[in-house]
Amino acid sequence: MFCRCALEYSAPENTRTCPVCLAHPGALPVPNGRAIELTIKLGVALGCEISKHAIFARKNYFYPDLPKGYQISQYEAPLCEHGRFVIPTADGDEAVGITRAHLEEDAAKTVHAGGATGRSVGADYSLIDFNRGGTPLLEIVSEPDIRSADEADRYLRLLRQTIVELGISDAEMEKGTLRADVNVSVRKRGEEGFRPRWELKNMNSFTFIRRGIDAAIREQVAAYERGETLEQSTYDYDPDTDHLTVHRSKEEADDYRYFPEPDLVPVEPPVELVERLRAEVPELPGTRIRRFEEAVGFDVAYALVTTDRDALYAGLVAEGVEARLAANWVMNEFAATGDDPADVNVPEMATVLKTLNLTRSALVDATAASTKDGFSAAAYTAQTAVSDASELGPVIDSVIAANPGQVETYRGGKEGVLGFLVGQVMKETQGKADPKVVNRLLREKLQA
Ligand SMILES: [Zn+2]
Repeated sequence: MFCRCALEYSAPENTRTCPVCLAHPGALPVPNGRAIELTIKLGVALGCEISKHAIFARKNYFYPDLPKGYQISQYEAPLCEHGRFVIPTADGDEAVGITRAHLEEDAAKTVHAGGATGRSVGADYSLIDFNRGGTPLLEIVSEPDIRSADEADRYLRLLRQTIVELGISDAEMEKGTLRADVNVSVRKRGEEGFRPRWELKNMNSFTFIRRGIDAAIREQVAAYERGETLEQSTYDYDPDTDHLTVHRSKEEADDYRYFPEPDLVPVEPPVELVERLRAEVPELPGTRIRRFEEAVGFDVAYALVTTDRDALYAGLVAEGVEARLAANWVMNEFAATGDDPADVNVPEMATVLKTLNLTRSALVDATAASTKDGFSAAAYTAQTAVSDASELGPVIDSVIAANPGQVETYRGGKEGVLGFLVGQVMKETQGKADPKVVNRLLREKLQA
C-alpha cells in the first residue's frame, strides 16, 4: 500500500520486502494510487459517497507482525461512506447499508510452528513472513442490517463477485485474499437497539461463516435464557466442535491512540477522477442477475453470475441458442468439465447446441472439445439421433425377442426394467437412437 514491493501469492517467504514495509528507520510511505482508485470504484459500486478529504491515520499497537508498531489506516475520514448494497433474491431485493469502505495496510503473516502446528496455543515457536506485510487491505464495514446466516452468505457472495468483477482482487477465501470479521448479537423480537456483540475474526470460509453465525446465535440465546449478561468480546469459532471460545474482550478504539499519519497528506480525489472511475464501473452482478432472471429464472441466473459463467451463457444466446438450453448446457455439461468459460469457441458450440436431435454422445464429445484449438461443430452436428419409427422398429423388435425374461418382468408390472431395454436399443444403434422416441415405441410394443 505504501511501497513498491511486488505482490505475489506463494512467493518464497520474506522475498517481497523492502525498507518501507520492513520499517527501516527513515523509510517513508508513498500511497498506492491504483489502490485508491480501485477503492473509489468499489465505493461507487456500493452506492457510497466518495470523500473529498480522506485521511490516513496511525493506529498504534504492538505485534510481531507489525514492525512499525503502528498500522496506517483510515479512521475518522475514510474514502467511502454511507452506501447501500442491493442483493437480489428470489423474493425481492435485500439491501445492506454500507457504513464505510477504507484502505489500510495488511500485517505480515505469523505462522505458529512446532508442537501443535498451526495453533498459537501449544506451538513451540512462531515464524513471520513479511511478504504480506504492507499489502493494500480494503475494509468494508456494513450496517447491522443482516438478520440471518443465509442473508450474510448472500451479502458476502455478491460482494465478492462485485470485487472480482471490478478487478480489485481475486478475493479467494482459501488464499486469504478475502477475509471476514463477523459480528453477531441477538435481541428479542420488537426490541429497539442492539445488545453487546460477539466478533468472530478472520473467518476464511463461507461454510464456517454460516456455521459460526448459527453457533453464536445459539450460544447467545442459551446464555440469555440462563439469565446471564453478555459483554462485547472477540471469539474463535472451532469448526471441529461447532463451538465458540472467547478470544479476548474487546479493546476500546481509544487504546489505539489514533492520530493523523504525519508522513502522508490527505487524499483529495479530484471530481474529474471520481467521475471517470464512475464511468468505468461495469454493469454490476446484482443487476445482471435481474436481467437474466426473466429468461432462465432466479436460481439459474444467480448461479450463472456467481460462477462467472454468465458471459458464456450470454454469448450463446446472442448466437441464437434458446436461453434455457444455453443455461442448462453451461451449468450442467460444461460446468462438469471444469474448463474456463472464456476458452469456449462460442459460435461453433452454438451451432452444436442448435442442432436438433443431436445424439447424447455427440453433445458430450463436443462439450469436451469446445475449449480446444481448432474446435469445429461439423464433426458433431453430423451425429443426429435416429427418431424415425420405421428405422427403429426392427431394432426394437429384435431386442424384445432377445430378452423374453425382461419383457415378462415388465408386463408383470415392474416398469423399472424398461430402462434396461432402452439401453439395449441404444447399444444396438451405437447411441444414435433418440432415447425419448425409443422409450415411447418400446412402451407401445410391450403393451401390444
Ligand atoms: Zn515493501
